[in-house]
Amino acid sequence: MAALIGICAGIDYGENNIFSRRSYVQAVERAGGLPLIIPPLKEKKSAEKLIETLDALIFAGGGDIAPIYFKEEPHIALGNVEPERDRFEIALAALAWERNLPALGICRGMQLINIALGGDIWQDLEMRGGALLQHNQKAPPWHGSHRVEITKALSKLGGPRLWPVNSLHHQGIRKVADNLKIEAKAADGVIEAISARDKGFFIGVQWHPEWLGDAPWGDGLFKALVLAAH
Ligand code: MN
Repeated sequence: MAALIGICAGIDYGENNIFSRRSYVQAVERAGGLPLIIPPLKEKKSAEKLIETLDALIFAGGGDIAPIYFKEEPHIALGNVEPERDRFEIALAALAWERNLPALGICRGMQLINIALGGDIWQDLEMRGGALLQHNQKAPPWHGSHRVEITKALSKLGGPRLWPVNSLHHQGIRKVADNLKIEAKAADGVIEAISARDKGFFIGVQWHPEWLGDAPWGDGLFKALVLAAH
């Protein structure tokens, strides 16, 4: 039976909708998994039941993460936040970690995993200071606009040492959680991928692999997740 891959959904407060981008669903299907969209829920026991039921989880992209979850006041450049989603996904990520459920964090999802495990983020990359690349690309989302230098661990997925990835973020990881390690950086030093120390598949990428097609840094990540889910 195909591995059941949960994809965390976003909240549209304006329309009172819960939604997921179709590109995540399609990427999981291409990788041979069975996608299931997971809404943000209130109860901790719902998170527990989901962890028991699913074979793997995707923490998807979306809005900014509410700074209250890493004990900061909101910076002026903070964008839209989905606080109920943040709360649920942080609980879900901590549980997935505890129970060894394979997980892939994408963009916001990578930052969320880091926060769930005790790290934090820049609310806006400008806060970091120093020269920055354009991390909120004006090119179409399928374009690999900047490169990331990957570690040996990610190079097992194939391809060159520099991966051309898309970049659709203005926040970024500041302090890496103790249980995580850096797996890729951009030329300006911005952290672009993380993975678990001494664990199974628990990877976060700052880019959007679902739009990058048949490459190790695109569909390759979804295939690796589905493989780990069995
Ligand atoms: Mn970037």
